[in-house]
Amino acid sequence: MPEGWRYAVGVGSNLGERREIIARGRDLLDAGGVARVVESSDLIETAPVGGPSGQGAFLNGVWIVASGFGPHQVLAELQRIEAACGRVRTVHWGPRTLDLDLLLRDDGLVVSSAVLTLPHPRIQERPFVLVPLSLVAPNWPLPVRPS
Ligand code: AMP
Repeated sequence: MPEGWRYAVGVGSNLGERREIIARGRDLLDAGGVARVVESSDLIETAPVGGPSGQGAFLNGVWIVASGFGPHQVLAELQRIEAACGRVRTVHWGPRTLDLDLLLRDDGLVVSSAVLTLPHPRIQERPFVLVPLSLVAPNWPLPVRPS
């Protein structure tokens, strides 16, 4: 697999066996032939922001993945893994056990398409993304938020 780029991926889970689900997502990504996890932050527990009330706490972290593919292909691969890990197994489980967001590419690539905005537009307002990102990718160019 060509691995010319590094992408940062935001990872979150708030349903089911969160740590195991995130580990399974990582294994599926590594096995898929599109991108490979080369670094991962610790997972931190955070209170849910927005969404329906009564949700459980999230585990959040950031992966750095290596890939020779473009951002749309990497996003499609992340969505395949979300679907594979997010299947409802009991009536009590919601469909979103794993949330994978494409955050940034190491060269600061900007994309604005119907399905993809890069850098991810909500990086700056989410401490649970910024903190792990600053630990695993301290030198990457962060987008400047328009004032
Ligand atoms: P969400 O359910 O919040 O994870 O949002 C998923 C939707 O956001 C999908 O329809 C994606 O096409 C779109 N999207 C746009 N930019 C991004 C990005 N940088 N990372 C992940 N999803 C994105």
